[in-house]
Amino acid sequence: MLRETVRALAEAKIAPYAAAVDEEARFPQEALDALTAADLHAVHVPEEYGGAGADALATVIVIEEVARVCASSSLIPAVNKLGSLPVILSGSEDLKKKYLGPLAKGDGMFSYCLSEPDAGSDAAGMKTRAVRDGDFWVLNGVKRWITNAGVSKYYTVMAVTDPTKRSKGISAFVVEKSDEGVSFGAPEKKLGIKGSPTREVYFDNVRIPADRIIGEEGTGFATAMKTLDHTRITIAAQALGIAQGALDYAKGYVQERKQFGKPIGDFQGVQFMLADMAMKLEAARQLTYSAAAKSERLDGDLTFFGAAAKCFASDVAMEITTDAVQLLGGYGYTRDYPVERMMRDAKITQIYEGTNQVQRIVMARNLP
Ligand SMILES: Cc1cc2nc3c(=O)[nH]c(=O)nc-3n(C[C@H](O)[C@H](O)[C@H](O)COP(=O)(O)OP(=O)(O)OC[C@H]3O[C@@H](n4cnc5c(N)ncnc54)[C@H](O)[C@@H]3O)c2cc1C
Repeated sequence: MLRETVRALAEAKIAPYAAAVDEEARFPQEALDALTAADLHAVHVPEEYGGAGADALATVIVIEEVARVCASSSLIPAVNKLGSLPVILSGSEDLKKKYLGPLAKGDGMFSYCLSEPDAGSDAAGMKTRAVRDGDFWVLNGVKRWITNAGVSKYYTVMAVTDPTKRSKGISAFVVEKSDEGVSFGAPEKKLGIKGSPTREVYFDNVRIPADRIIGEEGTGFATAMKTLDHTRITIAAQALGIAQGALDYAKGYVQERKQFGKPIGDFQGVQFMLADMAMKLEAARQLTYSAAAKSERLDGDLTFFGAAAKCFASDVAMEITTDAVQLLGGYGYTRDYPVERMMRDAKITQIYEGTNQVQRIVMARNLP
């Protein structure tokens, strides 16, 4: 029922704008409005904080169905979970009440600030500093590649509080867009997900109350990694949705397009491509749903499964979208058809929340 509801909303209120959002590289405001009106913009927020209380699998289904028509728009529910999960996992009760309520109501989105210009795969090499000053923390530094930066009202920021301890000297904080000293870089000019703003975030002597720390001092990196165990599954969901959109489009196209006097879908060479695409997609979906169940149950092998789902589903999405372009021939290579956008959008799922090389490192360290 949830899937049917989200699919209907996505088809009616998000899909019509997907091509323009990509072409104009603009924020999908229509999608944010539609998702917020239907209470689907941050479905993971627990009911006790005013949210819809969707479990991990339901959240995956929402993201999957939005991504099926517009990958950029699927980053609204996905990054709201990514940004706020540190608060849910490790924040004080006061912090949860203060920030999860407005997020659930649609009064502000949440972004997640881990990466820096010189700290990507090696995130623990970050330089952003937070120094205690009485009842305040003072933040200085630069975060890079921050999804929805500038649009979001709230930011979970990982910063070094003890430079002698590397990952154990990192703490997490909630910073608000309106805090003095917060500013943003120009939007990055990207290959895909062009509707999702990606910008640098600058912290110039940003003074925040001490109670904005998420959890104990020194636990921020552990919280950031624990968060990714859960949210890599939402990137897998995004990959599934993009791939499903491309497969659905190609499936319809091969029935219509005629060459050699018959629909190209009558050729076994084309049928075998579609069979492979559907097979890989279903395998990725089963792995992702199984990882979502593990996320919900907090199973001990979640780290392996979260990385495996993200890595496998994103590799599969890249293959399926590339094959969809192939099945449309020259037409697939043009922006008159949606599959080239889907192919460009799929690429990012192999890169963010840890590249697929990093996922393999994570899997190798956590073999089941
Ligand atoms: C559009 C977009 C949105 C993003 N959104 C966010 C966000 O909201 N918040 C956030 O914090 N970050 C975000 N990121 C950052 C993203 O997570 C990083 O780009 C990613 O982790 C890779 O870091 P890097 O770009 O510095 O690449 P690098 O770490 O420099 O990697 C370059 C290459 O080297 C490889 N490599 C590096 N180390 C190893 C190793 N040990 N073994 C094998 N290969 C290795 C990588 O796999 C990659 O192929 C976003 C990025 C993009 C492009």
